[in-house]
Amino acid sequence: MSPPRVAVVGSGPAGVFCAQILAEDPAFDGGVDVFERLPAPFGLVRYGVAPDHQKIKSIIASLSEVFEQERVRFLGNVTVGADITVEEIRRHYDAVIIAHGAPLDRRLGLPGEELGGVIAARNFVSWYSGHPDASFDPSVLSTERAVVIGVGNVALDVARMLVRTPDELRRTDVPEHVVDALAGHSVREVCVVGRRGPEAARFTLKELLELSNVEGADLVVDPADLRLTPEREAVLSGRPAARRVFAALEKIAERPAAHRARSVRLLFDRTPLEFTGQGTLSGISLARTSDPTRVEQLATGLALPAVGYRSAPLAGVPFDDATGTVPHRDSRVLDGDVTVPGLYVVGWAKRGPSGVIGTNRLCASETSAAVLADLASVPARSTDSEDVDSLLRSRGVAVVDWKRWQAIETAEGALGLETGRNRVKLHSRTALLAAAGITQERTAADTGTALPAS
Ligand code: NAP
Repeated sequence: MSPPRVAVVGSGPAGVFCAQILAEDPAFDGGVDVFERLPAPFGLVRYGVAPDHQKIKSIIASLSEVFEQERVRFLGNVTVGADITVEEIRRHYDAVIIAHGAPLDRRLGLPGEELGGVIAARNFVSWYSGHPDASFDPSVLSTERAVVIGVGNVALDVARMLVRTPDELRRTDVPEHVVDALAGHSVREVCVVGRRGPEAARFTLKELLELSNVEGADLVVDPADLRLTPEREAVLSGRPAARRVFAALEKIAERPAAHRARSVRLLFDRTPLEFTGQGTLSGISLARTSDPTRVEQLATGLALPAVGYRSAPLAGVPFDDATGTVPHRDSRVLDGDVTVPGLYVVGWAKRGPSGVIGTNRLCASETSAAVLADLASVPARSTDSEDVDSLLRSRGVAVVDWKRWQAIETAEGALGLETGRNRVKLHSRTALLAAAGITQERTAADTGTALPAS
């Protein structure tokens, strides 16, 4: 019997944890190929975790070890669904794990959302993280006030990055053009708007305290937003973490203003109603959630909705549009009520966009357990990694393997040295591929030679 081969679609933490768990399992004697559409691995760890959270990013070291093993391969710069279909992958592997995450934005569905200056937080995050597909135009930072909608951890990341000082930014790996744009922008006040009360804030205490300690900005909370009503008390009494956040907000509200150059204001109980402006954003109307007759206008040229992400359908994989996830039973993908043989799901594509990196480890254990149980009962098919490699080669896909990724890392280290920093990210696909030793980017998606017509 030939050893089984498993494909993972997506190299974010959920996918790489699956590869790690499988490769470390004594019962698994096969190989794992991890497909990634970008030339760089690690998904949101590289392109979502805020650049000033280097401690969280240090998980990259242990994720990298997974690819140091011979039987786990990285196939970067391969777009599943364009360069190779899910059906083709399923033909070549005994099990396929969908781990493509939640690459879309939830929308607010409000009038004026299409105005220039209303930009999903993800675009801003992608830009400062040096994502090759980022489409953020930093000229929108020439406004005095920015408004972040939502009070989750992404909202706080975004607010913090808007007020970091140039020195703080230079301690990170963000590209130089990002440091320059963030150091020189005109935003003086960042309002972070929650539709419910502070008892329902989704951000965590650690992130709140971090925001309260940035060098260049005051964090301002209106004590009037923190009145302890019986309803609020009832919510807090069953949720110790929320109570700790609430207590921290009370302390912050009492602090005298330090009159720093910038400020972040947390506003609660405000439901966004409408974005206003002629072509570009000039303001937002907000109504008190508890009293919709109280409407206020905030003048602003930049609104960053940070209201959550959504997974995307992938051809050949069932998708539940209502939940924005891949339907599954015990991590096995479902088509209606029927399990699709050999197809599994993990991470945000499975659970929706919630939880921290560690949550994906548990999720990956469940998915890997399902894969291992099924592999134990179905004999592995005789497939060869060379089959997939030659298919990709025939389509002109320039695969970034682990060695080539290491060359990119070396180039980013060298770029850091030039500017007196530890590492600076390469932010264009061309630069990433050039560092990988691929001078001409030719993916099947570009050349149109890839897929048979469906
Ligand atoms: P999130 O935690 O789900 O927060 C989304 C926010 O958007 C909530 O405040 C939500 O309010 C609000 N919202 C949703 N729909 C809205 C609407 N129509 N109008 C107004 N507000 C709306 O999502 P996230 O911030 O994107 O984070 C995703 C996950 O990644 C979370 O688990 C987060 O903890 C994690 N993460 C962690 C870190 C970190 O550890 N440092 C950093 C970033 C992200 P309601 O509660 O009222 O729905």
